[in-house]
Amino acid sequence: MAISDVTRQLVRERANYLCEYCHSSERLSANRFTIDHVIPRSLDGSDDLSNLALACRRCNERRYNFVAGVDPETQEIAPIFNPRLQK
Ligand SMILES: [Zn+2]
Repeated sequence: MAISDVTRQLVRERANYLCEYCHSSERLSANRFTIDHVIPRSLDGSDDLSNLALACRRCNERRYNFVAGVDPETQEIAPIFNPRLQK
């Protein structure tokens, strides 16, 4: 299911037009930012506002479908930053 324009705009305004991962400004970017699923749809993430975050293209592509990564210091599996749960 596609995310509606209304929902996209709500996500943009909520994020203050900043990428929620690196805090770069959409207004200073040549490209419109994308709406990222915090929990990917491939892992049953929803299209609900609570699961959406504004992400610049670079952050969105880098996260791809991973919700966890290996911590380089401890070698343990660590969850990737979640802008809905962390600040
Ligand atoms: Zn970013």
